[in-house]
Amino acid sequence: MSTYDDLAARAQRLDEADPLARFRDAFVDSADVVAYLDGNSLGRPVRATRDRLSAFIDGAWGDRLIRSWDEQWFHAPTEVGDRLGALTLGAAPGQVIVADSTTVMLYKLIRAAVDNAAERNEIVVDTGNFPTDRFVVEGIAAERGLVLRWIDPDPVAGVGVDDVRAVLGPRTGLVLLSHVAFRSGAVADLPTITAAAHEAGALVLWDLCHSAGALDVQLDAAGADLAVGCTYKYLNGGPGSPAFGYVSQMAQDRVAQPIQGWMGAADPFAMGHSYAGAAGIRQFVSGTPPVLAMQPMVDMLDLIEEAGIATIREKSIALTGFAIEVADELLAPHGVVLSSPREAARRGSHVLLDHPDFREVTARLWEVGVIPDFRPPTGLRVGLSPLSTSFAEVVRGLEETRRLLA
Ligand SMILES: *Cc1c(COP(=O)(O)O)cnc(C)c1O
Repeated sequence: MSTYDDLAARAQRLDEADPLARFRDAFVDSADVVAYLDGNSLGRPVRATRDRLSAFIDGAWGDRLIRSWDEQWFHAPTEVGDRLGALTLGAAPGQVIVADSTTVMLYKLIRAAVDNAAERNEIVVDTGNFPTDRFVVEGIAAERGLVLRWIDPDPVAGVGVDDVRAVLGPRTGLVLLSHVAFRSGAVADLPTITAAAHEAGALVLWDLCHSAGALDVQLDAAGADLAVGCTYKYLNGGPGSPAFGYVSQMAQDRVAQPIQGWMGAADPFAMGHSYAGAAGIRQFVSGTPPVLAMQPMVDMLDLIEEAGIATIREKSIALTGFAIEVADELLAPHGVVLSSPREAARRGSHVLLDHPDFREVTARLWEVGVIPDFRPPTGLRVGLSPLSTSFAEVVRGLEETRRLLA
């Protein structure tokens, strides 16, 4: 048997033994895709979403019309937020909203944090963070006259607690970090870094875009302050589905957000003369919430509830571990380098591989129905969405990659 046949047989056994295998049928199939390895950029649609959207159009929207705002929609940001928080973030009720885009939510929560302590004029941020995070914080620093303290982290291992300690000081107001690095998939030590920042008197804002729905995040237990994330990646909310924002109960008493809108006011329908924010997490809502765009993620939350986030994390580790093994066997002989941590606890749910030809290879892979994504300069990112990806897809996708390199 060839190495490939061996690995394909292993994949089959892993799929047969996978306690979450049946969940793959819960997602819409693509006719021409043989290996979908990009669920970390856009999750597959859940089949049940077809019925949910159609019932929404006929029922809550078509039949109840404007009355649905009173009957259910007004509370959607906090109701969906509470559920998302409980199932995926380790967050007790009253601390999560679903609204805006991640970029806008980042702006709101960064501003909320830095305006909280005027004498603390430094923000800690790292050069490996996602572009929008860096761009937003750059803009706020210019707008408010703040100083950015840049960490230049190891590209594979990501930001460590020592990197953060080295730039923390009495003037640090906020530390902004991604929990899972969008490039290498390295997981930052959220509880330890949060504690280190607190010792220095700073708040931490965690970007959970590549964590929510795939990792067992425990915000309350870590004493986290603030977090944001997307819902179109591992939460399968669909293109442009809204962001979530987490503001801990404690932080809610200390910070106020900068986009004061009527939907986050204490009494929106009083149509009052000036703004008074609502109590609790509601004050972080700005304008009319994107209720329609929240519908698909509800179906994914149903699946996550059924599967359990701890079991989902186990499958994620098994998938990335297997992808690394397959890459070692099939791709390392062709000069491919692993640029993600090997240690299971330090890996998110995607793996980054580097090779000088990967830009061209990715384009050819898409033509044959193998869909990873390319991250410049030379990275092939293999995203493994635990509920919808099979071990067979991992082998299939990386074998096509090997054939193109050969
Ligand atoms: C995907 C992603 C975003 C996307 O922000 P949008 O406003 O939804 O476009 C932001 N930050 C990180 C870390 C991401 O991975």
